[in-house]
Amino acid sequence: MPILEYIDTHAHLDMPEFDTDRQEIFRRAFENGVKTIITTGIDILSSQKAIDMAAANASIYAAVGIHPQECNGATEADFARLDILADADKVVAIGECGLDYYRDYSPRHTQLETFYNHLDLADKSGLPLIIHCRQAEEDMLNILSNWSAQSPASEGKGVIHCFSGSAETALKYINMGFYIGLGAYIGYPSSKKYRADFAAIPLECIVLETDCPFLPPQSHRGERNEPAYIPLTAAILAEIKNLEPAEIASVTTANARRLFHLDK
Ligand SMILES: [Zn+2]
Repeated sequence: MPILEYIDTHAHLDMPEFDTDRQEIFRRAFENGVKTIITTGIDILSSQKAIDMAAANASIYAAVGIHPQECNGATEADFARLDILADADKVVAIGECGLDYYRDYSPRHTQLETFYNHLDLADKSGLPLIIHCRQAEEDMLNILSNWSAQSPASEGKGVIHCFSGSAETALKYINMGFYIGLGAYIGYPSSKKYRADFAAIPLECIVLETDCPFLPPQSHRGERNEPAYIPLTAAILAEIKNLEPAEIASVTTANARRLFHLDK
């Protein structure tokens, strides 16, 4: 049976957890059919590292952004720098950006201001957004519905990464032109209550992600996550949706290619 092809649409490959064996990580991903990885910045330095990694490896693409947990202290100069980084080769998205009212590491007004900056950058660059949203659903839905109503692109505006919630909320995002990012956490016992919701999200609007080194599959809890585990997430989604893993692989891979314009 041929190896199925997958895309990991959200990894943090620059993190120190991968410093000792990064090349091994790439090799294992490739061997498991994960032929393309988008590594996402969380601040200026990691965004630059993402660009450098993409330049050095054909399988890797970069996203540039400032994470809501990292935005406290972000300056005008940082945003000017981000504008420049967004123009670099193989940058396919703006993010990771968004709102996190769970941890509240940064004041909410700073998070909101920073997020609006990323929306402007998405408008300017024409790139899709990679959005983090934790316990900030009401603000996020309001902001994105206003923004997407005036934004010219009718679809492919970005992805709501690490989505967990009702199918109704997912459909609101989808109707605004967003995709839904799902990771290995969909198989956690704590996610059981969302199974029917995950099942109801149209496959044509789902992309797979690891968020590695975080959120490993249930069978690897307590360990480091890595892109090679994407097929495990595809298998869980196949079970939840009562579909073949091959269909999950081919449709989510096509979705990621379409959203991030990877065929250009
Ligand atoms: Zn992330």
